[in-house]
Amino acid sequence: MSIDLRSDTVTLPTQQMLEAMMNAPVGDDVFGEDPSINLLEKMAAELFGMEAALYCPSGTMSNQIAIRCHTIPGDEVICEQNAHVYIYEGGGIASNSGAQVRVIAGNHGRINLDQVKATINPDDVHKAHSSLVCLENTSNRGGGSCYDFEEILKIREFCSGHHLRLHLDGARLFNALVAKKETPVQYGEVFDSISVCLNKGLGCPIGSILLGTTEFTRKARRVRKVFGGGMRQAGFMAAAGIYALHHHIPRLSEDHLNAKRIADALAEKTFVRNIKPVETNIIIFEVAPPQTARGLTDELRKHDILAIPISTVQVRFVTHLGITEDMVEKTIGIIRQL
Ligand SMILES: *Cc1c(COP(=O)(O)O)cnc(C)c1O
Repeated sequence: MSIDLRSDTVTLPTQQMLEAMMNAPVGDDVFGEDPSINLLEKMAAELFGMEAALYCPSGTMSNQIAIRCHTIPGDEVICEQNAHVYIYEGGGIASNSGAQVRVIAGNHGRINLDQVKATINPDDVHKAHSSLVCLENTSNRGGGSCYDFEEILKIREFCSGHHLRLHLDGARLFNALVAKKETPVQYGEVFDSISVCLNKGLGCPIGSILLGTTEFTRKARRVRKVFGGGMRQAGFMAAAGIYALHHHIPRLSEDHLNAKRIADALAEKTFVRNIKPVETNIIIFEVAPPQTARGLTDELRKHDILAIPISTVQVRFVTHLGITEDMVEKTIGIIRQL
């Protein structure tokens, strides 16, 4: 069996998760009648201390719904230059919301207050209306980096004073919460909306949660329908989310430990350089010439270890629920031989 370190999206449901799914009470969620979805939404809203939540098919959709709800065509959305909402959502901000994007070159995917201040447009007819700031925590392209919560508070305060909405792409927010010993409520208090993936480290087959006020969520539910994301008996999937929120959060620290161990082994190699600080479950590093990113991943594949070349010189490894300690040992053994 391969050791699949390409992404934390490759996880398969555990036997217990499957049982929870099979036994889920379901109904038509477009009619608001799916008890499992209703329970998941209620649980998530309570967990974050936010008014309401909306179950969505994917993190991409929940981000795109949030952006659509917070902007009107011609607005400007501010985010980091490698933000998922900008580089990995198919130009959705333009096509779904008719908004444009202003990017900031951050520090491993994180932007700070001074950068936000310097980026918003003045009230001037020449300029687009800056209406939304999107943060990503953890940052995928930043190597799983986490925000310093103090910086988020500063950005929040500034946004409140300048009529800017603040959205969090928290695809891997639970990784950040576990790594930084923070709470969901802290985040619920400061963001206008939060998107959290259930299909990443939490190990569900699909799904994402979008959190916000009751009013925001009512609008979001309408946009979700327009985007084709109104699902019917999706409670089978929501049940996996309920199970994951109960059982799969604290274990994320194991993934973080495994990532550090693999990164330590990589750091010994002469063909590896510029490993981004490993704060959670993602390892991103550069491959020194003559080796290439593709060359290295091809080499690893011969040993049944799968990783992704994310550029010609960068490789990404991600640890997750499906990566056992034995697999980590084996991976380290292979890295040492290369
Ligand atoms: C994976 C991911 C998403 C959304 O992913 P889906 O595959 O659409 O669920 C959003 N933001 C970040 C940072 C991600 O890593």
